[in-house]
Amino acid sequence: MFDAILIEKSDSGQSARVTSLAPVQLPEGDVLVDIAWSTLNYKDALAITGKAPVVRSFPMVPGIDFAGIVAESATSDFAPGDRVVLNGWGVGETHWGGLAARARVRGAWLVPLPASISLRRAMAIGTAGYTAMLCVLALERHGVTPESGEVVVTGAAGGVGSIAVALLAKLGYRVAAVTGRPAEADYLTGLGAATVVDRQGLSEPGRPLAKERWAGAIDVAGGVVLANVLAAMRYRGVVAACGLAGGMDLPTTVAPFILRGVTLAGVDSVMCPKPERLEAWTRLARDLDPEKLDSPTTEGPLPEVIATAPRFLEGKVRGRIVVPIAPELGS
Ligand code: NDP
Repeated sequence: MFDAILIEKSDSGQSARVTSLAPVQLPEGDVLVDIAWSTLNYKDALAITGKAPVVRSFPMVPGIDFAGIVAESATSDFAPGDRVVLNGWGVGETHWGGLAARARVRGAWLVPLPASISLRRAMAIGTAGYTAMLCVLALERHGVTPESGEVVVTGAAGGVGSIAVALLAKLGYRVAAVTGRPAEADYLTGLGAATVVDRQGLSEPGRPLAKERWAGAIDVAGGVVLANVLAAMRYRGVVAACGLAGGMDLPTTVAPFILRGVTLAGVDSVMCPKPERLEAWTRLARDLDPEKLDSPTTEGPLPEVIATAPRFLEGKVRGRIVVPIAPELGS
């Protein structure tokens, strides 16, 4: 038997609890993983609280990512003892996920963990850090270099944003960090931000085009914030958009695209093809200062995760929450 969070649905609604499951209850898959560390992501908090229809079938073990050790494998790609990480692919939404001591998944979904990244650190990075790296790769693919000019990151004190700031700064970019929490200014400059921008200045509907400020952008906000970022991009600037923390809509015009040649590059981590995942994790091993992760990472054991989920959605949690499941499995 093994511990897991289980989300169930009944006539009276949806509920989550920590329970004990048997391996035979696990869904189909060709690799069985002993999970060492998991995390609490924004999406997991939505799934656990039921605040958004993240869970597509019940009962469901939430957790969109995990790091662990292969216990059994029916594919030649993995062998028992391999260190692996999983992000997305509908795990924790349509397939039982990572907030559990065991998971059975498709081998095609697993990425071998680079040797220099510990299992705990893989989850301190988590889906947030992996998504931040996909955004950096998108900027690079569209030709944004440190010489191009300043790059702005929205939601900078959040999970994706804080790792995006750290990555860009390490790569030599001058970074402007947008935050709604001015008290986090020291934290953001510690991550490498050159300037901290008050989100309020980007939160009101603006003109279709504003003064040209940024050569690149990583946006987790969407909504009016993204519209204002687009309006303030320099000629041929590139925006990597991955989130909707400020809204699903995008009240913009075509002006930034047709008059300034701005590119809006969408980033999805869930169904991202495997070669790009491998590249992202290889680059995370190279380009992310491990110490930069230490201050924004806190530990929250499995039984506490359910109570923490609503606080996460209220924006009361800074940085990343890693969940020790079986830390004794090694680094
Ligand atoms: P967090 O909750 O950790 O961070 C979100 C940050 O967004 C907050 O810290 C805050 O930044 C900012 N924010 C909050 N409310 C608003 C608002 N009304 N307007 C503008 N900014 C706001 O979440 P994550 O970093 O984990 O995820 C960020 C977004 O990216 C989410 O929407 C998430 O769903 C999405 N995401 C998408 C992925 C993909 O595959 N496309 C993968 C992972 C995440 P500050 O504190 O600095 O003010």
